[in-house]
Amino acid sequence: MFRYLFLLIAFVGLEGCQETPTDADVNIDEIFSTDTVEDGQLNVEAMKVLSVNFSPDRKYFHVYVGFNHDVGPYHFTDSNDVTIKVSESVGGILQEKKTAAKLIGVKNTEGDEVAKRKVKCLALVDLTQPQDVLDKVRDAVKEIQAVFSHKNLFVSFMDGQNVSETIEVTDYVLENYFKSHPEQYCYLYRSLLLKKREMEDNLGVWADAKKMGLIVFSDEKVYGDNDEPVDPKHFELQQTLVNSDSLRDERLSVFAVSLGKMVAAADYNEAQSVLKVVCKNTGGLYQDKFGWTEMEDCLLESESMIVANEFIFENPDGKVYRGNPHRLRIEIISNEADSVIGTASTNIFLGTAYNPVIVNDPGTLWMFLQGLGLGLFFIIMVYLIFQFLIPYIKYRLFLKKYVVKYVKGDMSVGNVVVGQTCYFCKAPFMEGDDIVVKCKHVMHKSCWDENDYHCPEFGRHCQSGSHYYNYANLFDSKNASFYMKWILVSIVSAVFTWLFYLLYVTDFHQTPDTLIAQMMEPRIADIGNYAIFNNDENGINQIPEFGLFIGSFLTLALASLAVRRQQMRRRVLDILIRAVVVGVFSYMVFLLFRFIAQSFDMGTFSAIIDWIPWSMMALMVAFGSTIGTRIKLKKYVLAITLVLGIVSMYLWSFLFNDTLFLDIRVLLLVTCIFFAVGLAVSVAEMAPKSERYFLNVKGAMKEMDIALFKWFINNPDQVVTIGKSIDCSLQMSWDIKGQVAPVQAEIRQINGVMRLTAIETGIVINNKPLAVGRSAWLYHNSSFSIGDTTFTYIERDL
Ligand SMILES: [Zn+2]
Ligand SMILES: [Zn+2]
Repeated sequence: MFRYLFLLIAFVGLEGCQETPTDADVNIDEIFSTDTVEDGQLNVEAMKVLSVNFSPDRKYFHVYVGFNHDVGPYHFTDSNDVTIKVSESVGGILQEKKTAAKLIGVKNTEGDEVAKRKVKCLALVDLTQPQDVLDKVRDAVKEIQAVFSHKNLFVSFMDGQNVSETIEVTDYVLENYFKSHPEQYCYLYRSLLLKKREMEDNLGVWADAKKMGLIVFSDEKVYGDNDEPVDPKHFELQQTLVNSDSLRDERLSVFAVSLGKMVAAADYNEAQSVLKVVCKNTGGLYQDKFGWTEMEDCLLESESMIVANEFIFENPDGKVYRGNPHRLRIEIISNEADSVIGTASTNIFLGTAYNPVIVNDPGTLWMFLQGLGLGLFFIIMVYLIFQFLIPYIKYRLFLKKYVVKYVKGDMSVGNVVVGQTCYFCKAPFMEGDDIVVKCKHVMHKSCWDENDYHCPEFGRHCQSGSHYYNYANLFDSKNASFYMKWILVSIVSAVFTWLFYLLYVTDFHQTPDTLIAQMMEPRIADIGNYAIFNNDENGINQIPEFGLFIGSFLTLALASLAVRRQQMRRRVLDILIRAVVVGVFSYMVFLLFRFIAQSFDMGTFSAIIDWIPWSMMALMVAFGSTIGTRIKLKKYVLAITLVLGIVSMYLWSFLFNDTLFLDIRVLLLVTCIFFAVGLAVSVAEMAPKSERYFLNVKGAMKEMDIALFKWFINNPDQVVTIGKSIDCSLQMSWDIKGQVAPVQAEIRQINGVMRLTAIETGIVINNKPLAVGRSAWLYHNSSFSIGDTTFTYIERDL
């Protein structure tokens, strides 16, 4: 019988598709090599994030998700079949709509590639199958649809003597056309040849196809119940199919999927053999059971392709990335089974606390204005509080406590016994006079004010007899606390630091639309070349510059108060050198610690060591701005800088809260101000505060304090001379034995600092004689001697 004619052919070879896609398997295995344990269950990952790719303005990002081929027959876009759930969480907290990234599109990169390559596919479906078989065929077509869109996937139905037109696979077609007609036979060979020719002849939809796949779904039944061929031209067509080898169109591959029962080797099925031959001859595959992966690999030569979807996200404007991980989770849920098909998640790191990335920054200018406004606000508040509020309150307390009405008779206030006369003007007190009982030297209030708000003995003999408050001129700088100018300059330096740093890191160039457009292009070719984490190159790298700015500006500010020199030019030079040196050292320290943090891959843990460069920088500023000045640092400055470093770091992370109304970058200014003010106050604490300065004289007479300041208060240019001459301001009449010249030395006040100059030899300072014409600065506790007399310069508060 003819049936056995093809027995021989059947053994020629069954593998049509020569290219076994081993490479692709390796790739996929690599991608899905990690199994995860979730909820106590071991899951082989169905999906995995391959890369994340941001648009330059961070408004859009693309997440490439690879899919395991075994996931199933889904087209992973939101559809009737699946729902895509996306969530973003920061520190375990789910982000709300206004901060979370929104999924705006899903691109099937494989589908794009198929379309680009102009690969088209036709499913030839035998409608005479029972409905349950046809349903399976429909599922198979749906699976193909995950890669082939309706623009390049077609179907044609065999039914009776007819074969339908080639039609696009749409949802409607899938829903309504797969209807079983089991009572019929179909003309398998005829239909196959017809469609094959249509494709080979580039008719209709096949006109621009570069590669075509014809997939036959059939039970290979070509004989009727009477054992006669159904098709009258059966043998002729069979011959054509088998012999078409020489005329083969390289673009077309035929695939066949057997829907019939597998026949035993003895029960030879002729049509099955014919199809196997056709598949082999055209480079296709014959499958006993539908397997899209193999078919796809064969048809698309897809070892070069990764099955991936590109999820496109849009960030809301104003969204802030500040270096902490944003966990993005994509979940695909089957609607039908209401079960999770697969999930993929990734952490996105962008920006740093030092330089947060803000999506479509609502206003850089506005941010700068906010910062400058805040700085100005702090400066004004500090001035108002220290210049007016605190002195006023203290003055009110002083009035309440120490200024009383004089009452005749024995009167005492606290421990102070009130005499009958004013210690200053010696006039007797009258009933009702305002008197000051701050110390035992009770005075008229008017005399007190006249005597510069202190008692005549204020100094060594009276420690408490003073309360300065110039109510006639509230702007008198002496009203304010000594700390005010330190705080003010440190705030100014913090504002400058912040301003320079942000000018330095802010990208003022707008992103051109074309760049964004490029971002939106499919990029399948680039998959694998992108790092999973798009770490911001601007973030951590700019910390050394921050160190440079804060180190130099703060040193500049503190040194301007600490350094006193006679000549303005030298003073400015001195201050500038200090600022530059400390700035450079701060830069190096931050650089070193960044290097350490990066080398040891400390990542998010770098915050733990971040305070070290801060503390070291604080120490350098304190040291650099005061060394060689009248300010002598005390040992506890080390502890202060440590505390400041740590607190600044934690304040830093504590302050960064998304709910604040201020631009997040302005909060950096708050930290800067905190740090600068803290350090300035610590340094000021160690500085001599008083404008009251005395010369303590010890020798062949009763020890005494000479109030130097009294000479200079009214006449700052005055020269105080010391010598034996009666013309000297300070006549050393007590030193009879010593070698004292008529005019030995003079003291001048220069920028508030006392400077001792030798007029004659005989002055010893620091155990060394001071040559004639040479000068020396007098600091608190500096002492020098002339003859047998020792002079000690003393600055004292109150
Ligand atoms: Zn008086
Ligand atoms: Zn007194």
